[in-house]
Amino acid sequence: MATTPDGLPPLREVVATHGLAPKKALGQNFLFDLNLTAKIARSAGPLEGFTVFEIGPGPGGLTRALLAQGASRVVAVETDPRCLPILDEISNHYAGRLQIVQGDALKTDLAAIAAGGPAKVVANLPYNVGTQLLINWLTANPDAPFWTSMTLMFQKEVGQRIVAGPGSNHYGRLGVLAGWIAHSEILFDVPPQAFTPPPKVTSSVVQLEPLKERLPCDLAKLERVTQAAFGQRRKMLRQSLKPLGGESLLERVGIDPARRAETLSVEEFCQLARAI
Ligand code: SAM
Repeated sequence: MATTPDGLPPLREVVATHGLAPKKALGQNFLFDLNLTAKIARSAGPLEGFTVFEIGPGPGGLTRALLAQGASRVVAVETDPRCLPILDEISNHYAGRLQIVQGDALKTDLAAIAAGGPAKVVANLPYNVGTQLLINWLTANPDAPFWTSMTLMFQKEVGQRIVAGPGSNHYGRLGVLAGWIAHSEILFDVPPQAFTPPPKVTSSVVQLEPLKERLPCDLAKLERVTQAAFGQRRKMLRQSLKPLGGESLLERVGIDPARRAETLSVEEFCQLARAI
């Protein structure tokens, strides 16, 4: 049987042996290129001493790269029970360093598993729940995030929304939330043909690191302001923010009521959130 540099069988062989046909409903677009999985793992920076959370390990290509890259402990959360025997083989190979959690990542409390230790999240996320997972991790505890960094694959369009700032067509609620909590950047794009099966669109690997100093503001209020403002993004703020105080609110914080949501900085959204 052929082996790869980590001594485990090639991924395509593993998938064929275990009959793991990708399921669309689970967002299963697998990566078989070990150079690419190694590149993603490397871009997460040093992994020694960290708990590395991987969501959706699937057949384990990225999992293997993270372990080969020196992650002290990988905690992999996978919903599809068909992947478990494959992941068990990897776990046996890297004795004691891979912990598999079978379940829905949307309901898994990563902060509790990290238990205050340093943690990173590295994942080729299932696209159907990727944005919601990111929002959960961003908002879990903005004052003290459980993650030191997150290196995540999204659809490119979602990546653009995460990193967008004022003036960009991609700027919206997600950009404000991410910009309030973290510095984020797109590291590189990944073409559809890198995946099996190929998705319809290009993907991007996005990296987020918590800001050292975050603007003071209440999360629930920030969300109310951005929801109202971007809910009617073509309208002037005096109109879209009417339910929250409209013109008088905007004048109190010194923002021109004729501006539109996409022109406001994160700082200005925080000012509004503090004023409602
Ligand atoms: N990491 C693998 C790779 O790069 O080849 C697979 C990535 S695939 C895009 C997404 C994975 O997430 C699948 O293995 C799928 O079964 C899993 N998944 C989907 N929804 C999930 C959920 N709610 N919780 C945990 N895993 C999930």
